[in-house]
Amino acid sequence: MNTFELIKLPFEPNALEPIISAKTIELHHGKHLAGYVANINKLLPGSGFESSSLIDIVKNASGGLFNNAGQILNHNMYFEAMRAPRANNAPSGNIAKAIASQFGSFDQFKADFTQKATTLFGSGWVWLSLDSDGKFVISQESNASNPVQRNLKPLLTIDVWEHAYYVDYQNRRAEYVEKYWDLINWDIIDLRFCNK
Ligand code: MN
Repeated sequence: MNTFELIKLPFEPNALEPIISAKTIELHHGKHLAGYVANINKLLPGSGFESSSLIDIVKNASGGLFNNAGQILNHNMYFEAMRAPRANNAPSGNIAKAIASQFGSFDQFKADFTQKATTLFGSGWVWLSLDSDGKFVISQESNASNPVQRNLKPLLTIDVWEHAYYVDYQNRRAEYVEKYWDLINWDIIDLRFCNK
């Protein structure tokens, strides 16, 4: 039977300051994500998904099993692709060319993604994914949803649940979204993109 584990962060809790505080990271990773991991391990026995991967559970389960699996998948991909702040942070390599080709420019892509992130109502995630034709899709996903449910390949996400920013920005989601661009580890996003 599978047992899921809390991922180790690829950065120290204070590494994202001043954009995201150590306090937020400690709560977000150490309490919220750890809670989802504890919950799924309680729900798995007898569920029929004991040997399933996280993605298979997200695609096929419902209720609490789906919610916790979705949140683990979402958070793992979010935390794994952040690093210490860099000014003028932008992709390079293959993904940079593909973004410029489809959106016209990186700035236009940023504007489109930012608009989706600031306008998502309630709790959820905004994703950049690839469809089966290799075309980018930006989508708003409510609560624990993930683009893999529609057979898209997820590349980049921002968590816009209030717990991701409320300690640092209170109700100012737009400010968190704007600053998030300096934290994205484009090397990881490019690896996801190239592993098609
Ligand atoms: Mn979260």
